[in-house]
Amino acid sequence: MRKVTSIIFILVGFLFLLSPEVLAKDNFQEARLRMVQEQIEQRGITDPLVLSALRSVPRHEFVPENMKPFAYEDTPLPIGYGQTISQPYIVALMTEKAGVKPGSRVLEVGTGSGYQAAILCAMGCEVYSVEIIKALAERARETLERLGYSAKVFWGDGYFGLKEFAPFDAIIVTCSIDHIPPPLIEQLKEGGKMVIPVGPPWSIQSLLLVEKTPDGIRTQDLGAVRFVPLTRTLREK
Ligand code: SAH
Repeated sequence: MRKVTSIIFILVGFLFLLSPEVLAKDNFQEARLRMVQEQIEQRGITDPLVLSALRSVPRHEFVPENMKPFAYEDTPLPIGYGQTISQPYIVALMTEKAGVKPGSRVLEVGTGSGYQAAILCAMGCEVYSVEIIKALAERARETLERLGYSAKVFWGDGYFGLKEFAPFDAIIVTCSIDHIPPPLIEQLKEGGKMVIPVGPPWSIQSLLLVEKTPDGIRTQDLGAVRFVPLTRTLREK
């Protein structure tokens, strides 16, 4: 009798291991580790905190159901409302160049899916993120909360930053604009860094690293990128 019970236990255990949920979790974890190795480390990202955040944050939870199989591919993906979640490498690059560490106060302009905000939370930052499309802000807020990331998400025009929480150690802008918004420079701490794609809409832009020094700002071009444009009109959906 005891033997039969043990066999049943073992069988149930096997069935659990084969359940779609567990299989999917394992597959994603493997895909995520491969993503970090092949797309991120091999392209020269070295900050261990950035790498471990990318290894831990479940990117598939930030994309629509039909995009999940592609969540760890080397590409941006549509997230609805005409917007995209950035390519993993670009998220890693922007995060590394912003020079954030545990405890940094960071402003993100363009919450989108909430993935970049989650990466910053996983690194121990205090994160404030602004999104101009209300439906996206709400969805990102829900996703972040469900997964236990404590970023604060606001619906608004990020061009103006978030004066009440300034100054910021770092600012990450994930939509493109043809100039650096003066309110964002103002809200950056002295010694702080901003990463922002500057250039024409729906075209190639330059990813700029902006450092605020006692004598003004110093900019460095990090290379060509293509981001959705920063818009100036609040949208419900
Ligand atoms: N960081 C995001 C990628 C977002 S794509 C992620 O990890 O998924 C850029 C986002 O910027 C879009 O969601 C777009 O709606 C938003 N956006 C555009 N103009 C904005 C503005 N003025 N203020 C705040 N968000 C803006």
